[in-house]
Amino acid sequence: MERLQKVIAHAGIASRRKAEQLITEGKVKVNGKIVKELGVKVSANDKIEVEEIPIQREVPVYYLLYKPREVISAVTDDKNRKVVTEFFPFEKRRIFPIGRLDYHTSGLLLLTNDGEFANVLMHPKYNIEKEYVAKVNGIPTREDLRKLEKGVQLEEGKTAPAKAKMLSLDKKKGTSIVQLIIHEGKNRQVRRMFEAIGYKVQKLKRERYGFLDLRGLNPGDYRELTPHEVKQLR
Ligand code: URA
Repeated sequence: MERLQKVIAHAGIASRRKAEQLITEGKVKVNGKIVKELGVKVSANDKIEVEEIPIQREVPVYYLLYKPREVISAVTDDKNRKVVTEFFPFEKRRIFPIGRLDYHTSGLLLLTNDGEFANVLMHPKYNIEKEYVAKVNGIPTREDLRKLEKGVQLEEGKTAPAKAKMLSLDKKKGTSIVQLIIHEGKNRQVRRMFEAIGYKVQKLKRERYGFLDLRGLNPGDYRELTPHEVKQLR
């Protein structure tokens, strides 16, 4: 048995607070009857409707995928490119990626059918560390790396403090491998941060998301998160 507002939030329809509001406003029915009190518990067999629309309930699942390059972080693509859910052809539940990695970026991506969990992780306040390794054109100076750390100006504002470290450089080719750890998740953030200091990212990979990394996985591989990992992330 679970609380009604939690079940609604899990279905991804609304945040938990909004779900409570929907209930108290009389917009939620359980087995055909309006329920306005909070705290009512429902079982898997109860039919729940929000604004007359039945909600789909599924057993939640959480995957960690090593997304290869040239795959779209979405469930469909209008240009028919490969999408991340294609790595789970057996999965009948409606899973979707939590956030995005660019088409050309590889690395760690979480997928779930738990809308509430996804909302929590994608909220700007949820500032988990994300570690990227970028191959860039040129060799950033120590001063350049300091700029990345202190924050650079992007269209929508300055980036939050980050960590940047030179991992290796190839003087002949004029390229370098830089580790960048950020807490935010703005669109194309790493590429744009490097652009802001005059470098172009040639290759990008997300190595780590909080305490989760890609150990033991190759591009295209995935594993389920353990219940303990899910709990730690919430
Ligand atoms: N930053 C980027 O520029 N691209 C990604 O895919 C992720 C972070």
